[in-house]
Amino acid sequence: MGLFSSKPKIKVQTTKKDGFSGWLKCTHCTELIHVNELKDNLHCCPKCNYHYRLTAAQRVELLADPGTFKELFQEYKPTDPLGFVDSEKYTDRLDRAKKKTNRDEAVMAGLCSIEKRTIALGVLDFSFMGGSMGSVVGERLTLLIEMAIREHLPLLIVSASGGARMQESILSLMQMAKTSAAIAKYQETCLPYISLLTNPTTGGVTASFATLGDIIIAEPDALIGFAGPRVVEQTTREKLPPGAQKSEFLLEKGMIDCIVNRHQLKDKLSLFLDFLTGNARGGKKAQEALPKKLQEILDSVEQTEEEEPASAKK
Ligand SMILES: [Zn+2]
Repeated sequence: MGLFSSKPKIKVQTTKKDGFSGWLKCTHCTELIHVNELKDNLHCCPKCNYHYRLTAAQRVELLADPGTFKELFQEYKPTDPLGFVDSEKYTDRLDRAKKKTNRDEAVMAGLCSIEKRTIALGVLDFSFMGGSMGSVVGERLTLLIEMAIREHLPLLIVSASGGARMQESILSLMQMAKTSAAIAKYQETCLPYISLLTNPTTGGVTASFATLGDIIIAEPDALIGFAGPRVVEQTTREKLPPGAQKSEFLLEKGMIDCIVNRHQLKDKLSLFLDFLTGNARGGKKAQEALPKKLQEILDSVEQTEEEEPASAKK
């Protein structure tokens, strides 16, 4: 691989005799970093703090109190209503994504507690078809938002997405309206919706629920925008200023509220939740409900699941 042709700066400590040594070159600062070091550092480069992408499962592990996350709405599975074929059949793409990620869709939606506060949590998974929002992603998020309304829970959605899923065409675009309408309803409860934007958050996800948060947080150096920089430049025939569509630029322009380092994320979320549930009109109800609710809600969810057999739905 040529990685060790020049003197490595860090002592080589291989975990495996052959093949992958565990050393990587940071794509951002090009320093040599060990995969274990990266893992211990929440997948941020220990040298330059570049925030590498997390899968939905890793994100849940980072944010939820251990063992509290319960995934919901998995009875809604992606289908191929249009029989869509481009260079490959949509169904084949789905199968490949499922195998690669060991997940059934580009979203994980459920309930958990964060620092002992029960919360409705939705996380998009970029590793599954670029975190694209198909009908099922939109449906699971909408069901999550509706559950948060019913149970008076704060809502956190973590985005990482290329936008709407083109293989579902108009059905995918409709999810923008559906999720936005659900958020509007949620906001009538005066409960807090926190949106966390991670690298990258683009397209129909940016143009719907991701930018409707009461608080919009971004991770450092995340690409956030509607069309990607290449498309913008082609359309406007102008060069974008350096760093445009990055968190830091968007903070300066007022599109996001704050940038939070991954290491401080859980603490900051906890602080915001404290603040918002303590002050909002609907918050008092939510606060009273928080300490005991998680198990209670999960029990009632399981009951209804037994009563109503799952059926596929768009
Ligand atoms: Zn680096």
